[in-house]
Amino acid sequence: MHMLDHWRDIARTPDAPGPVRVAAMAYGAVTGNGHVPRTDSDLAEALEIVNTRTGELFSPSMASVKRWRKDAVRYGLLGAGTWGRCLVLPAGVSTNLKVKGSPHVACLICRNRTRQQGARVQDLHRPAA
Ligand SMILES: [Zn+2]
Repeated sequence: MHMLDHWRDIARTPDAPGPVRVAAMAYGAVTGNGHVPRTDSDLAEALEIVNTRTGELFSPSMASVKRWRKDAVRYGLLGAGTWGRCLVLPAGVSTNLKVKGSPHVACLICRNRTRQQGARVQDLHRPAA
């Protein structure tokens, strides 16, 4: 079972570590193929928090978002195929990952990227080394 609302709440928890918030955002938005197309700019907006003192919205910097995304992969929270335009869940992290018998059906954005790079699509879900 995949508790999408639970993960979305974690993504919005201001004092949770950044890599956990990035991964939680992906876990809370994932569809059947384990790919969550999001740019770093999308992530910065999705991870905005309210400054409880001033009531103003605060977006993390693009540098922070990029570092958090890379750390989420390094910690194994996201798959090695994660990049600046798509968050990829590691294989086996959700029972919802069922797309015609294969959890390794890349999104269109990743397919175009792998085609350009000559990489194998199934490597996208490989856990980080
Ligand atoms: Zn993708």
